[in-house]
Amino acid sequence: MAAGDYYEILGIPRNADEKEIKKAYRNLARKYHPDVCKEHGAEEKFKTINEAYSVLSDSQKRAQYDHMGHETFTSASKGSYSGAGGFHGGGFSADFSGFGDIFDFFGGGFSGSRQSGPQEGSDLLMKMQVTLEDVVFGADREIEVNHTEACSHCNGTGSENKKLVNCPRCQGSGQMRQMSQTIFGQFVRMSTCTECHGRGRIPEKRCTECRGSGHTQVHRKVTVHIPAGIDSGMRLRMEGYGEAGDYGAPNGDLFIEIYVRPHAGFKRIGDNLETDVEISPAQAVVGSVVNVETIEKKTVELTIPAGIQHNTALKIPGEGVRRRGKPGDLLVRVKVVIPKQLKQEIKGLYEKILELEGHHMADSKKGGIFSGFMGKK
Ligand SMILES: [Zn+2]
Ligand SMILES: [Zn+2]
Repeated sequence: MAAGDYYEILGIPRNADEKEIKKAYRNLARKYHPDVCKEHGAEEKFKTINEAYSVLSDSQKRAQYDHMGHETFTSASKGSYSGAGGFHGGGFSADFSGFGDIFDFFGGGFSGSRQSGPQEGSDLLMKMQVTLEDVVFGADREIEVNHTEACSHCNGTGSENKKLVNCPRCQGSGQMRQMSQTIFGQFVRMSTCTECHGRGRIPEKRCTECRGSGHTQVHRKVTVHIPAGIDSGMRLRMEGYGEAGDYGAPNGDLFIEIYVRPHAGFKRIGDNLETDVEISPAQAVVGSVVNVETIEKKTVELTIPAGIQHNTALKIPGEGVRRRGKPGDLLVRVKVVIPKQLKQEIKGLYEKILELEGHHMADSKKGGIFSGFMGKK
């Protein structure tokens, strides 16, 4: 939906603090609010501003955005990254929490007046498990979506002849006035019309297929693109794959929350992957070449430099998470393993080394430190 960088949209530097973000947002929201600004495209601009603000005002989403970059964050085959309860288009249901004065500024009618008229469909949330390979390379996954769509028989109008008429109960206003007489005088309370549910219009003749709701339940297969670099807890947004909205209003969105299953051989650290390789003391001392299998199942020859210390990480560039632009690296952590059983010939050589180092051998008849002490008696 939004084109361009969120920081640019709000006109703030990338290191702007919370206060600056809030201030920039308030100024722009006032300027472009559709009740105030009659300029062409103001509504779209207002949505964009809200979208930018909903991301940058949330430290977790902002970090994700900074990390992923605008393009990856916002578009991945219609799916886009979003944190919990991300902003979703129409109806100006933007997050105004903590902005009481904006309501005042618009005379308090802001949210109330939007209750009537066609309502956008609700969002859906599903969870998806992915493998570390999916995270590294990106993947396309087919999923089954169960949601409502506009009824094809009546085109979503809910009316057999596709005609709508003004609601007789509220005369098309979508609102009902309820009068009550109290000792303080007469009170008028406005509430949503129960006949048309605030829509103002009702089907002339109920559709026989959807019984007037305008919606039908559908089951369809959709391909979701999982962008490389995604992490557990992040959500993909499939625009329009939520529940159907009222006639004339958009569908809700489908949010897919990702869970990355742990991998037996590799661990992810940012855009890098980490794996272990075991070497012998001789390989550590003299230096050696070992074969390392990458997550792509490619065998890479890795040179172990002479004198390497236990737990040192060696880097194989470009074999990490394949994020567009700059892939991460594979870090190979070297584990020096002390052999417990040796061939006689090798044992003899170790004993020779010990002798050259000027150390004494432990007496093999006495079993370890403890029995060594006791044996002195
Ligand atoms: Zn009505
Ligand atoms: Zn229908």
